[in-house]
Amino acid sequence: MNPPSWNNWPELLALRAAHPQAQVVAGCTDVGLWVTKMHMRFAQVLDVTRVQELRRVETHDQHVAIGAAVTLTDAFEALVVQRPQLKTFANRFAGLPVRNSGTLGGNVANGSPIGDSMPLLIALGARVVLLSVRGQREMPLEQFYTGYRKNVLAPDEVVGWIKVPRPADGELLRAYKISKRYDDDISAICLVVNMRIAEGVVQQVGIGAGGVAATPARAVQTEAVLRGSAWTLEAAQRATAALRSEFKPISDMRASSAYRSEVLGNLMQRFWLESQGLRQINLESFRLEEAAQP
Ligand SMILES: Cc1cc2nc3c(=O)[nH]c(=O)nc-3n(C[C@H](O)[C@H](O)[C@H](O)COP(=O)(O)OP(=O)(O)OC[C@H]3O[C@@H](n4cnc5c(N)ncnc54)[C@H](O)[C@@H]3O)c2cc1C
Repeated sequence: MNPPSWNNWPELLALRAAHPQAQVVAGCTDVGLWVTKMHMRFAQVLDVTRVQELRRVETHDQHVAIGAAVTLTDAFEALVVQRPQLKTFANRFAGLPVRNSGTLGGNVANGSPIGDSMPLLIALGARVVLLSVRGQREMPLEQFYTGYRKNVLAPDEVVGWIKVPRPADGELLRAYKISKRYDDDISAICLVVNMRIAEGVVQQVGIGAGGVAATPARAVQTEAVLRGSAWTLEAAQRATAALRSEFKPISDMRASSAYRSEVLGNLMQRFWLESQGLRQINLESFRLEEAAQP
């Protein structure tokens, strides 16, 4: 039997409803490994990248809507246009071939606790839009996850869009990825802090973390410690302690639990130092010649 043909999302959703057991695929940078490394076989696959609507980035007044099947290269480009400080972080997601075929929706749907886009999207207050023949629903990204690689997707649903709010005035945003290799490596820890300070007081804060729990996570307790507080060294130290006690990371081949906790807090301290204008405290801005000056 020839596979059915489809190229728009109503057709995709009708097929999803008719074939809930089919394996949804996008760039296959995760699913491909299930086949080559784990020898899985799928009787049916449903390729969301054929749907042009899901390959678009749309800019709206309040947010940018990134189609689930937009490549990571294009998705990060759309984010970097609005927030240039994310360029280094974007370039550290896998390598160019994976960024050119993998999709943002695939990263989000796969839901690895050490995936890189989710801590960023959570810190930015992104919402995920789910589509099915029954209609659509949306939620804050952190509510999409229910457990280790588990999410709220119903058998007839797909991820349609990821809606990312535009930058707020005075937004202070930093995204940190700690991995064994600088290039083309998965995070041991990822921390993204997005803070808006007015007259020395934290007005709004979003903190996304990876590598610290069974799912990508929002640091709700640490956010609560900071919100409404004066942005001082003492507040940053309280946030550091709160972050370390909020999560109980596991030990695995990438890092021990103790290392992850230690580094998580250290990254909050780095955020404090960078918020005070300090440079030379990360690899991106470190210049050996300048550091060697007497
Ligand atoms: C060498 C290498 C390096 C990597 N480095 C990183 C890294 O640094 N950081 C990182 O976070 N990840 C990394 N990854 C993981 C991977 O690239 C990402 O998870 C990628 O974003 C998955 O997207 P995809 O389009 O390839 O998804 P696929 O592999 O096609 O699918 C992944 C999962 O998402 C589901 N899915 C896909 N699209 C949808 C949709 N629209 N609706 C519902 N479900 C959907 C699929 O059913 C499947 O369960 C790396 C992978 C490789 C091979």
